[in-house]
Amino acid sequence: MSTIGPEIERLIQLLSKLPGFGPRSARRAALELLKKREALLQPLAGALRDAAAAIKTCETCGNLDTTTPCALCRDERRDARLLCVVEDVADLWALERAGVFRGRYHVLGGALSALDGITPERLNVSALLARAGEADEVILAMNATVEGQTTAHYLLDALAASGVKVTRLAHGVPVGGELDYLDEGTLSAAFKARRAL
Ligand SMILES: [Zn+2]
Repeated sequence: MSTIGPEIERLIQLLSKLPGFGPRSARRAALELLKKREALLQPLAGALRDAAAAIKTCETCGNLDTTTPCALCRDERRDARLLCVVEDVADLWALERAGVFRGRYHVLGGALSALDGITPERLNVSALLARAGEADEVILAMNATVEGQTTAHYLLDALAASGVKVTRLAHGVPVGGELDYLDEGTLSAAFKARRAL
């Protein structure tokens, strides 16, 4: 027996599909929206409608923006000879927040996974191989997960023919991290990646 109307039921259903949302947090979020109809629900509905109408996937790099090519691809101040490959737009955002990279990006749209049936054909790989010819360096900024590292190895092989320099992010001790708290895998990666001072 449901005491909730179908519109609210649908709202909860859709919210529960968001990452980090379970049925309980979806109900709480829906209730908050319904209580704050003018301050929250209506502006959110407008923002969702605008985003749905305006957002495009960049045909060059796979980023999300209101234009294609995206603002990052059109920015002449960014070094087109440096190409940073990331799994997801969230990773691109993280690197932009850090402000450490002034080149161009390439978003794969995921990582290889035999378990989930994610093959190279399902990722934005062929476009990367085409772009790599114009780059001096391709930086593989994959996640330090099994899937991320499998993807990095695959790309390293795939890029070998182009002769471009390929680098990857270092794995190791996080800033502010204490050795005693690190897992063996991280500690071993940090040890192997040690460098002269
Ligand atoms: Zn782009």
